[in-house]
Amino acid sequence: AAKVYYDDDADLSLLKDKTIAILGYGSQGHAQAQNLRDSGCNVVIGQRKGSANYDLAVSHGFDPLPVDEAAAAGDLVNMLLPDEVQGDIFRNYVKDNLSPSNLLLCSHGFNIHFGQVIPPEGVDAGLVAPKGPGHLVRSEYVKGGGVPSLIAMYPGSSETSRGLALAYAKGIGGTRGGVIETTFAEETETDLFGEQVVLCGGVSALVKAGFETLVEAGYQPEMAYFECMHELKLIVDLFYEGGLNYMRYSVSNTAEYGDYSSGPRIVTEQTKKEMKRVLEEIQNGTFARNWLLENKANCPGFHATRRRERDHMIEKVGRDLRSMMSWIDSKEV
Ligand code: NDP
Ligand code: MG
Ligand code: MG
Repeated sequence: AAKVYYDDDADLSLLKDKTIAILGYGSQGHAQAQNLRDSGCNVVIGQRKGSANYDLAVSHGFDPLPVDEAAAAGDLVNMLLPDEVQGDIFRNYVKDNLSPSNLLLCSHGFNIHFGQVIPPEGVDAGLVAPKGPGHLVRSEYVKGGGVPSLIAMYPGSSETSRGLALAYAKGIGGTRGGVIETTFAEETETDLFGEQVVLCGGVSALVKAGFETLVEAGYQPEMAYFECMHELKLIVDLFYEGGLNYMRYSVSNTAEYGDYSSGPRIVTEQTKKEMKRVLEEIQNGTFARNWLLENKANCPGFHATRRRERDHMIEKVGRDLRSMMSWIDSKEV
């Protein structure tokens, strides 16, 4: 079983004379920074000027510094920037502003694991990753709770650094929910696998294929949208509360029988073989290399695909139907 740390395993007083630099005031940055400050830690924000996030930090009572100055001020430096820009920002603004015995932190291991961020000599690195979006990290903390988090230390890091990382996890409320020990490799690879195979890639492809099958068979797109996209939320909520068992307990016996008889015909041995190949390409760095190169070229394929996907019939039908459901706080982007 996984090793889990709770409040008693972490010592906030280790951070008493330390300054924590939070680079980026986005989803994770705004939440972690405010939680740490409310836990009594000294926090400085590194956030570029002229953006809504800069103004947000100011409105929360922070006095944001340029990223390089914040990095220089921090004993702990957490890069809460988009993963695809972290490598460049680290090389240009962070690296030379770190001193020996500083602790470099992140909330996703991608850049360190794939060698885009290389901690300088004498600087340890750790990962403290809440398993939830920033707004939840903040709102649960304010309620007295905390979002379960992951912790990992870069190989060769000291016990002192581990203590600091655990204290950091306590400062954001993580140890209230439980902090699970992992490694950079495990966090990075499972995160990428989950979003590609199930959460984002797998589900989107499944929904689209189901929708297209009904429409191509002559059914109305509105019906196809309700059955293949809209109702997914009901099912996911049941998963979230009680797993597959609770979903199957809640739906009709007809739906449950169809689940068992047809599900394995849709996700087949062949599908699983392909999942293994996706995992292999994550593990051997092929995916990371492709994504980083795509960014170096200013994302031509990424932007083209995004454009094409936006125009799929399911998106047009969905926009119209959502406007008929007044209880949905619909988000049209
Ligand atoms: P966001 O996109 O919400 O925030 C990014 C921050 O970085 C913003 O403050 C943004 O400022 C700043 N930024 C973006 N581009 C640049 C740039 N080129 N130069 C300087 N500053 C820049 O990121 P997240 O909080 O979602 O992600 C941060 C980290 O947390 C990532 O490693 C992510 O994987 C991880 N994480 C995220 C989770 C989530 O739910 N969001 C969950 C767990 C981990 P500006 O407004 O100026 O662009
Ligand atoms: Mg991810
Ligand atoms: Mg039905």
